[in-house]
Amino acid sequence: MNPFNELGIRSDIVNAIIELGFEKPTPIQESAIPVLLSGSNDFVGLAQTGTGKTAAFGLPLLELIDSDKNFPQALILCPTRELCLQISNDVKNYAKNLSNVNVVAVYGGANIVNQLRDIKRGVQIVVATPGRMKDILNRKAIDFSQVKYVVLDEADEMLNMGFQEDIDDILSTTPKEKKTWLFSATMPREVRAIAQKYMTDPKELTMGTKNTGNVNIEHEYYIVKARDKYAAFKRIVDYNPEIFGIVFCRTKIETQEIAEHLVKDGYNADSLHGDLSQQQRDKVMKRYRERSLQLLIATDVAARGIDVNDVTHVINYSLPDEIENYTHRSGRTGRAGKTGISIAIINQKETHKIRQIEKTIGKQFTKAEIPTGFDVVEKQLFALVHKVHNVEVNEKQIDQYIPRIMDEFADLSKEDIIKRFASLEFNRFLDDYKNAPDLNASADDRGRDSDRGERGERGERGPRGTSAGFTRLFINLGAVDDFTRGDLLGYICNNTGISGRSVGKIDMKGVFSFFEVETEFVEKVTEAFKPIDFHGRDVRIEVSGDATGGSEGGERRSSGGGERRSSGGGYGGGERRSGGGDRRSSGGGYGGGGERRSSGGGDRRSSGGGSSSGGGFRDFSGKRKDDGGGSSSDSGNRRRRS
Ligand code: AMP
Repeated sequence: MNPFNELGIRSDIVNAIIELGFEKPTPIQESAIPVLLSGSNDFVGLAQTGTGKTAAFGLPLLELIDSDKNFPQALILCPTRELCLQISNDVKNYAKNLSNVNVVAVYGGANIVNQLRDIKRGVQIVVATPGRMKDILNRKAIDFSQVKYVVLDEADEMLNMGFQEDIDDILSTTPKEKKTWLFSATMPREVRAIAQKYMTDPKELTMGTKNTGNVNIEHEYYIVKARDKYAAFKRIVDYNPEIFGIVFCRTKIETQEIAEHLVKDGYNADSLHGDLSQQQRDKVMKRYRERSLQLLIATDVAARGIDVNDVTHVINYSLPDEIENYTHRSGRTGRAGKTGISIAIINQKETHKIRQIEKTIGKQFTKAEIPTGFDVVEKQLFALVHKVHNVEVNEKQIDQYIPRIMDEFADLSKEDIIKRFASLEFNRFLDDYKNAPDLNASADDRGRDSDRGERGERGERGPRGTSAGFTRLFINLGAVDDFTRGDLLGYICNNTGISGRSVGKIDMKGVFSFFEVETEFVEKVTEAFKPIDFHGRDVRIEVSGDATGGSEGGERRSSGGGERRSSGGGYGGGERRSGGGDRRSSGGGYGGGGERRSSGGGDRRSSGGGSSSGGGFRDFSGKRKDDGGGSSSDSGNRRRRS
């Protein structure tokens, strides 16, 4: 008998999950399913993401609802749209062979009309984010008076995101006798309080010890000088040719800069942060899931709830402010029984934080050495060799070309041909890593971070400044919005009266862009964009980091505009150098001193160049400027100063 049958799950459902590759229950499923199937208990499950908790509550729910009755019987609340979609899709998949089971996902950032229509059609299981759920309840568009089960998934995250009040309001519309099942990766006081408030004598289940990281994850840290951080990070990436990773930064600006720098250096990377519209986030996530992106650079808030299988590495480009976030970050790898590596790149002064994290997760970090240039080149070479060896040959298609190819190579020996193929990639890495310095910081380097000059190593330089006399600005629109250089330039010129010559390099990215303007016009340009919306979205312009022209190198001491939450568990003590937006609260967290900085790290050279694509300045609602077309491509060329 299938082990899921033995737990009490009917065959129609078991057959569906077998198709999903579920052979046997995960530990949390094994323990929770029998308890939840009884339908008579409140329940608290302390479990990390990736442990199989969706099925742990989803399968019992499907057993417990009455599909002949077409009204809401189960409500699953979760913190993010991504998680909401994941859970509803998972439950739909489990229910694939059942008739009349209706699951509706209710989340913000999508058309409410469709969701209302789906609800009206009849639904037994509602999966929702709190904000949109409350909105729908306020419209009296759903009736929860017969809800029997409420699941609070990732309860700690929902509280972190400030959903307490919404949850209270939503739960007040459900019957008192319902059963509440709460899942949380961590159990801070606030989550305990919810459990006490809404539950009677809940059965508790802890998978692993409190806050303990997943056993499938190995933790490593690298000590580097702050100035070498980006170079070290890139080495680590290069040393892992098959990496499919999520890189965590502390602020959205740092996130953007790292992504930008990586793209320039030829990596498949993009950023995910709270400034993106839902549509932009979806596009980035789609590309990541499809593996068109190899590296996703994310803030903690934006990456919450992401469930992408087979993430090989989580890289903490900057350590999180709160210890618990380390657990959330690292939990993005090592999912569903796979192994994963969580890496922290730190400076000497941060080693105490590693010790604190070790205590919290109950696991030791390994101190690793940044690979030498030679190590990287060798690793890449053999990755290429293996790739060539294992590549699937499409005999049918390639056959027709073989005689000509043989002809081309007729004068070369087998050895020569192999050498040439290998050199194709190898030369690039040899070039990049020629004279590559040792990036491991030794104890002697303490406090000497800022003394270094530029190194000769190609592509490994730290941040660089903007053109002299210009200031670099960030705009939250990019190529995925069909927003072009011409659009941008046309708009600036037409609305500020400044000439195209005063606009410097324009660097269009996927979901955001950077452009330079002469420093004296910064305010004018920023003001000109204030009343603007693009497809109904506010357009935001910000001065980007240390953008004032002429500055060269150097670590930015603070990056503003971070997505900050304040809660307990931050690093205690330490000098604060943060600028705007960095509102950490300390308390209950890492002890010890240590200067805190948020490092920039991205090379902010913008490539500019490229021809402006013309096409008028469209879609800034009601402000179409048809004359922008011609002039934009015109000034696009004038704009190029170098
Ligand atoms: P979750 O913790 O629910 O986010 O699940 C993490 C991942 O594990 C998802 O991709 C699930 O599809 C997968 N999963 C859940 N249960 C099992 C199982 N029993 N066997 C194999 N994979 C599973």
